[in-house]
Amino acid sequence: MTAVPAAQPRVAFTDEMKAEFKALLGDRFTTAAAVREHHGKDESYHPNFPPDGVAFAASTEEVSAVVKLCAKHKLPIIPFGTGTSLEGGVAALAGGICIDVSTMKEVLRVSPEDLDVTVQAGVTRKQLNEHLRDTGLFFPIDPGADASLGGMASTRASGTNAVRYGTMRENVLGLTVVLADGRIIKTGGRARKSAAGYDLTRLFVGAEGTLGIITEVTLRLYGIPEAISAAVCPFNDIRGAVDTVIQTIQSGIPVARIELLDEVQMDAVNKYSKLDYTVAPTLFFEFHGTAAGVKEQAEMVAAIAAEFGGSEFTWATRPEDRSKLWQARHDGYYAALALRPGSKGWPTDVCVPISRLADCILETKKDIAESSMLAPLVGHVGDGNFHLVYVIDPDKPEEMAEAKRLNDRMVDRALAMGGTCTGEHGIGYGKMEFLEKEAGDAFAVMGELKRAFDPENRMNPGKVVRI
Ligand SMILES: Cc1cc2nc3c(=O)[nH]c(=O)nc-3n(C[C@H](O)[C@H](O)[C@H](O)COP(=O)(O)OP(=O)(O)OC[C@H]3O[C@@H](n4cnc5c(N)ncnc54)[C@H](O)[C@@H]3O)c2cc1C
Repeated sequence: MTAVPAAQPRVAFTDEMKAEFKALLGDRFTTAAAVREHHGKDESYHPNFPPDGVAFAASTEEVSAVVKLCAKHKLPIIPFGTGTSLEGGVAALAGGICIDVSTMKEVLRVSPEDLDVTVQAGVTRKQLNEHLRDTGLFFPIDPGADASLGGMASTRASGTNAVRYGTMRENVLGLTVVLADGRIIKTGGRARKSAAGYDLTRLFVGAEGTLGIITEVTLRLYGIPEAISAAVCPFNDIRGAVDTVIQTIQSGIPVARIELLDEVQMDAVNKYSKLDYTVAPTLFFEFHGTAAGVKEQAEMVAAIAAEFGGSEFTWATRPEDRSKLWQARHDGYYAALALRPGSKGWPTDVCVPISRLADCILETKKDIAESSMLAPLVGHVGDGNFHLVYVIDPDKPEEMAEAKRLNDRMVDRALAMGGTCTGEHGIGYGKMEFLEKEAGDAFAVMGELKRAFDPENRMNPGKVVRI
């Protein structure tokens, strides 16, 4: 199992402290066991570390008041969006107070003329797109799960659309953040570019709640494309599929989505979503643009695919057919777990320069084939990013050891190829040792930055950096 970082000295949570939080938030502060349990765990195999209490804050000012009370009592603070992260980010490793921002659900401003929006941190991506429905605009970042935009900013999330629209890194323009001492600051703004001082926005994006709590997010928006078309194409082998991706990206074709599912994942998807796709390495595509542009992109990609052993494209042009196709892709994680009832998932991802993608995937698949591990592979391959889910029984030490061995090898391989230990899931505490390897001397500098923002190490302690 991933080593759990040494716990910070735990502060005893007393009845007097509880009374102070209750006086602040009333019923929106709770120590109920079921609620604490729900907030101590994400969607992966990582064990549950419940916080001492959960505060459902309703505004930036309320988050600040809760943070100040935590500061007074030296309590750790763990921000919580929707809890869909995958590397143990929400675990209360040293107890403390979970600040759940999921009730902060207001879309504060939409400016269609500037293509931007400001939302409270608890707004989810689906809620935002529902809100934008009549404006002709949309927010493209799509991590599959209906995650909160504060959580997505905090994990620097991306997903299927990132190959065309970028990740949260490119799409967050500004933030409101509550610091460890309760101060409220604004970073960035609405200007499309700025050369004004340190880029604190980029620092908080991806900080996983270790530097402050994001309460408001200003985001870029995009016009809904005139034409959208999606297709599925099976390949003779995985190299053909990956080479199609590489050639497509290197040719500069602006695909909106290009997703790889290996044959094990396709089998899982068919069974889980009651579909009948060919069980073979498969690419899922989506094209955005004018009707003529989409047609042209599709023809170019189909020609590349044919060259590398791709079969006919199966098209989905009606919105309901596209939704079905992408829902099946998004359910991939649960489909993988359903292959082995009662199992848990150890999801992991790496990202490499696109020219190394085929080697990285093929060597990783070879490792899996030589082991006893069930591990379907999916990938946002247009970015050089792919995921495995080790389908495991966490109570079996030999399975955990094997998953760890395979994972270590995959991450080492990605790093040796100039890649990163995570393209999008983040570090939490599950990948801290890999971040140390990847960042080298910069890892200690990250720790120094953390201390500057949070000298008492109370903001999500035990995550991302070692203090
Ligand atoms: C089935 C499935 C598929 C997924 N696919 C993808 C994918 O394709 N791409 C991808 O990027 N991710 C993916 N994820 C991971 C996950 O959805 C993302 O990491 C998402 O961004 C987490 O958002 P959340 O609101 O659930 O955050 P949480 O899980 O609640 O929190 C994540 C981290 O951010 C911190 N945090 C939360 N809110 C705040 C805040 N307001 N201020 C400061 N810190 C905060 C937490 O303390 C924690 O460390 C997937 C997850 C699942 C379950």
